[in-house]
Amino acid sequence: SKAQLFDRDHKSKITFDDVAGLEEAEMEVKEVVDFLKNPDDFTKLGAKIPKGVILVGPPGTGKTLLAKAMAGEAQVPFFSLSGSDFVEMFVGVGASRVRDLFKQAKEKAPCIIFIDEIDSIGRSRGKQVAFTGSNDERESTLNQLLTEMDGFATNSGIIVLAATNRADLLDPALLRPGRFDRHIYLELPNIKEREEIFKVHMRPLKTDNSIDVAFLASQTPGFSGADIANVCNETALIAARRKKESITRQDFLDALDRIIAGLEKKSKIISPEE
Ligand code: ATP
Repeated sequence: SKAQLFDRDHKSKITFDDVAGLEEAEMEVKEVVDFLKNPDDFTKLGAKIPKGVILVGPPGTGKTLLAKAMAGEAQVPFFSLSGSDFVEMFVGVGASRVRDLFKQAKEKAPCIIFIDEIDSIGRSRGKQVAFTGSNDERESTLNQLLTEMDGFATNSGIIVLAATNRADLLDPALLRPGRFDRHIYLELPNIKEREEIFKVHMRPLKTDNSIDVAFLASQTPGFSGADIANVCNETALIAARRKKESITRQDFLDALDRIIAGLEKKSKIISPEE
């Protein structure tokens, strides 16, 4: 599915139309899109455009989605890399990947670089967890990232976005001015926001008129956007198996039952550890 999200020039086809229930974050993100689209409006007054923005929020709240939507709205190329790819790697591989990434980005500016799970390389030294991979590798990758962030000029048309669930774990060196000095917070959606997210994910579905979106939102406290997307797809699969002409309220309720039962099972397995 990844291939469909981008055309040959790494251009994202995702826009703000695909994002729901993140009004505040979206407003901040729109500023960043302006930096990319109309840099002169800022630079002519002597403003320095921020280089790095961190998206902070629980899993599945739409950090990656929002980053892609920024690229889609600004119509600039999107380069991405995940911090977790570097765990368990040989020393030097991470650093050279980071170097390559920035080299490519400089050639394509204006553009967005997205680093998912930045905490897996950017964790502060005191907070390392011994079993999650080589610290040497992590450090050399982090150092390369800091070097690259310092090495490109402000206003050069590159904005580096990074995502994390835990901003409190990040090395303070990453958060210094001129690096990732802006934070945008995403939260789990409230009932109204869940309703909006349901609507986005129902758009491609063939539903009948028995469906009450507000009711579905009320039945899904604690669900993230990713969970809601999953409910919608599970529903469509159930209805298809039932050889339905269109998706009904009952298909949704059955999908919800199945997913909630799955979540309860998972939390029973995980909670004794936590
Ligand atoms: P993780 O921390 O687990 O990487 P994330 O915050 O990056 O999660 P995404 O990968 O952006 O979350 O979300 C996964 C999918 O869930 C999206 O592709 C989208 O289909 C759906 N989704 C999540 N949040 C939203 C939202 N606010 N509006 C619409 N869809 C959403």
